[in-house]
Amino acid sequence: MGQQHTRRHSSPSPLSALRGLVPRRPLLYQESLRIAELQAQLLLDLAGVKEPPVPTDVLSLIPHMKVVYLDDSPIAASAHWDGRDWIIVVNARQREPRRRHSLAHELKHVVDHTTRSFLYAGTPRMAPLEQAERAADYFAGCLLMPFGWLRKASADDCRTANEYAIRFAVPVGAAKKRLTQVGLAPENSRQLPLLPVDGWPPARLDFETAIGAEA
Ligand SMILES: [Zn+2]
Repeated sequence: MGQQHTRRHSSPSPLSALRGLVPRRPLLYQESLRIAELQAQLLLDLAGVKEPPVPTDVLSLIPHMKVVYLDDSPIAASAHWDGRDWIIVVNARQREPRRRHSLAHELKHVVDHTTRSFLYAGTPRMAPLEQAERAADYFAGCLLMPFGWLRKASADDCRTANEYAIRFAVPVGAAKKRLTQVGLAPENSRQLPLLPVDGWPPARLDFETAIGAEA
């Protein structure tokens, strides 16, 4: 009696939860990258995924999300709202690792749909659109290759970018980029991090802090 409270509204939809991580104020680009990483972590938490490779059906957590594979798509992938569903179109001719990365990239565009004006204010050196594209790539890297998992793979037996790429089912180029971002690139392939940030090039420590690689 009097105990029949429903919890219908106690947890937001995954999409709302991801968007809820974005403060409603103009953000520095580095803050936007950090938020991309937090969103990727949250999605993995919500999906209960704890090890690689991340299954692409984490997307099925997002309501009204449909993925269409097209043989004759002129581009790698795209996302649009058709009035009822989010449609992510992926070029079916890409190899599976590339398709997974493209899907994750497009998912970030969907997540950003209502918050992009806060996330990507643009700078004299980088237009808002460019920031959004790079953040989508960064999100894809964080989602498919979380830092903690990379560190574990490194402690196990992963040595080359190829080995990471196989374990995480991602393109080799994406693995190289992510390993560099988190400071795990093999010695012989170390290079400057590929993510452009304002004030580039920052001190290495600054960069790692900026992208939350210390976590
Ligand atoms: Zn894009």
